[in-house]
Amino acid sequence: MGKSVLVTGGAGFIGSHLCDRLRRDGHEVICFDNLFTGSRENIKHLLGDSRFTFVERDVQDPFFARVDRIFNLACPASPPHYQHDPVATVRTNVLGMMNMLELAKATGARLLQASTSEVYGDPLEHPQRETYWGNVDPLSRRACYDEGKRCAETLCSDYRRELGVDTKIVRIFNTYGPRMAKDDGRVVSNFVLQALRGDDLTVYGDGSYTRSFQYVDDLVEGLVRMMETDDFTGPVNLGNPGEFTILELAELTREMTGSTSRIVHLPAVESDPKQRRPDISFAKERLGWEPTVSLREGLEKTIEYFRTVV
Ligand code: NAD
Ligand code: UDP
Repeated sequence: MGKSVLVTGGAGFIGSHLCDRLRRDGHEVICFDNLFTGSRENIKHLLGDSRFTFVERDVQDPFFARVDRIFNLACPASPPHYQHDPVATVRTNVLGMMNMLELAKATGARLLQASTSEVYGDPLEHPQRETYWGNVDPLSRRACYDEGKRCAETLCSDYRRELGVDTKIVRIFNTYGPRMAKDDGRVVSNFVLQALRGDDLTVYGDGSYTRSFQYVDDLVEGLVRMMETDDFTGPVNLGNPGEFTILELAELTREMTGSTSRIVHLPAVESDPKQRRPDISFAKERLGWEPTVSLREGLEKTIEYFRTVV
C-alpha cells in the first residue's frame, strides 16, 4: 500500500520530478510550496489527481498533516535566488527545518533533508567525501545558504540523537534538467537558454572552475532509495562524479545546440568554489546507487525541454 508523503519545495525543479516519481510509485503526495522559485506550471499535470494535493504555504510557518514520509526540499537553490533575500534564506533553512522536524516528531514520520555540496564550501579536499567538514566563510554572500544548510543538518542530527526522530541527510551536488526555472541563474539553464537565443554564453571568470553535473532522474532515484533504506541515516553524497570545467560545459552546450553564440568572460563571482566533485563510494555501497545518465544524454533532454519554453 502507498504511503502518505509530504514534499516541501514540491513545485520546484527537483521537487516536481520527485512528486511525479512518488505518484508513479503509488504514494499519496502532499506538495507543499510557497511558489517563491517554484511554479504551478511544474505540477499542473498532477493537479487533477485525487491522490495529489497542493498546499501553498511557507515552511517558516508550523504545519500539521498525518504523513509517513517528509522530503524537505523547500529552499531557493540558485545563488541569485538565495542571495536575493539572505535573511529569508536562513529562516527557510532553519525555521523550516525545525517545523518539519516537529512535524516528524508529532507524526512519527521519517524525514529526509535535502542538504547540499555547499556544506563543503570552497573545498580543500577533492573529491569531497562525507567525512570532510568543509571550508565555509560564514560572512560571505553564499553563507546564508551554506550555513543555513549546515545548521539544518545539525538540527537533523540533534533531533535524531536527543528526540529519536527518524532523520536522514543527503548532500546533493549540482543537478540539472527539464523544469529548471528560466530565470534560475544556474549555469546549465543559463548556457542552454543563451545558446538557444543566440546570446553570449556568460562564463564568470576564466572558466577553469569545475563542477560535476547530475541529471535530475538519477538524483530522484537516489532520494527514493535513501528514504526507503533502513538503518542508514547518512549524510550521503548524491552526485555525478564526472567533472567538467565551466568552459568545457559552455563549449559542449554550444556544440549540442548548434548555436553560433559567442563565449564571453565576465568578472568572477565572490566566494565561488573552485572545484567540486563527489566521492560517491558511500552511496554505491549503502544504496547500490550510481548515476546512469551522461552529461551529453542529460543535456540533450534539457535542451529539448528549453526549446519548448524559450
Ligand atoms: P528550486 O528553487 O527549483 O526549488 C525550491 C522550491 O522550494 C521552490 O519550489 C520554492 O518555491 C520552494 N520554497 C523556497 N522557499 C520556500 C519556503 N520558505 N516555503 C515553502 N517553499 C519554499 O530548486 P531545486 O534545484 O529544485 O532545489 C530543491 C532542493 O534541493 C533545495 O533545498 C536545494 O537546496 C537542494 N539542492 C539542489 C541542488 C541543485 O543543484 N539543484 C543542489 C544541492 C541542493
Ligand atoms: N557560472 C557561469 N556562468 C553563468 C552561471 C554560472 O560561469 O551564467 C559559473 C559559476 O560562477 C560557478 C559555476 O558556473 O563557478 C556553477 O554555478 P551555479 O550557479 O550553477 O551553481 P553553484 O555555484 O551553486 O555550484
